[in-house]
Amino acid sequence: QAKAAGGNTLCFFNVDMQTSVLERASLEGDLHQALARNELALHYQVQVDHQGVTTGVEALLRWYHPQRGWVSPATFIPLAEENGLIVPIGHWVLQCACEQLAKWANQPSYAALTISVNVSSVQFQQPEFVRDVEGLLAQTQAPPGRLVLEVTESLLMREPTRVRNTMLKLRAQGVRFALDDFGTGYSSLSYLKRLPLDELKIDQSFIRELLTDKTDAAIVDTTILLAVSLGLNVVAEGVEKKEQLDWLKGHGCYRYQGYLFGRPTPIEYLFEAY
Ligand code: C2E
Ligand code: MG
Ligand code: MG
Ligand code: MG
Repeated sequence: QAKAAGGNTLCFFNVDMQTSVLERASLEGDLHQALARNELALHYQVQVDHQGVTTGVEALLRWYHPQRGWVSPATFIPLAEENGLIVPIGHWVLQCACEQLAKWANQPSYAALTISVNVSSVQFQQPEFVRDVEGLLAQTQAPPGRLVLEVTESLLMREPTRVRNTMLKLRAQGVRFALDDFGTGYSSLSYLKRLPLDELKIDQSFIRELLTDKTDAAIVDTTILLAVSLGLNVVAEGVEKKEQLDWLKGHGCYRYQGYLFGRPTPIEYLFEAY
């Protein structure tokens, strides 16, 4: 566009853009080392039911960069997806989650907890994905029924038949599936019918102004009804206020995740944090 407007406007490629390109490149270089240097960590955020009982946790990746400090997954996951690093990183996340599930399986007060793991479309579409998950379950002895894989609508759009087959193979092992950030993508409702999903997660962008925005309230209400009538679990994300919780409870949503109940936390502090 700058070129079409004439040679001089090339200076529109300004210092800010240049920095961000350079910064991306340098972050990307560092990300290659992050796994080996032990800079990645997995934090966990609780999910609770309408009685306040913790039913499970979501694993959320964190990167502690030696110079920059904490880098948000919203920044580095897209980079890792572009350069393929999401495959080994995603494997590491799954391995940590499976090891944690195996530990909990022997402790009566934790044995019923689920761990939800975000799976990138890039990772999910690797031909080895099923074997990888099966291998980790076997190797760690984690109970497959406690593992919930969170996928997004963008995955479902790609190759519906292949995606469905992959899901069915893992489902046959007991693994469960959640559709994350529901309502923010472009998925068609027919996917909900065809795919072996267990759970819908209502995106936090609809929860934020639930109490003041009639459109958000209508979307959330309809999503709950849809999930319930399809026999799916429905989890509200980003619940921060008691009033949001009360609204959700009154509208038939009985599972929640959000700062009201706890922030993502290292495992050792998880059950003392709230
Ligand atoms: P997500 O899976 O939708 O995760 C929920 C995000 O909402 C998390 O952000 C969480 O910290 C944040 N959150 C939870 N409760 C609240 C709340 O009450 N208020 C607000 N404002 N935010 C809340 P986070 O940890 O920064 O992760 C961002 C996204 O990065 C995740 O969204 C997920 O898409 C991706 N991600 C995180 N870990 C992984 C991973 O291991 N693999 C992959 N592929 N993606 C990941
Ligand atoms: Mg998620
Ligand atoms: Mg989400
Ligand atoms: Mg999200």
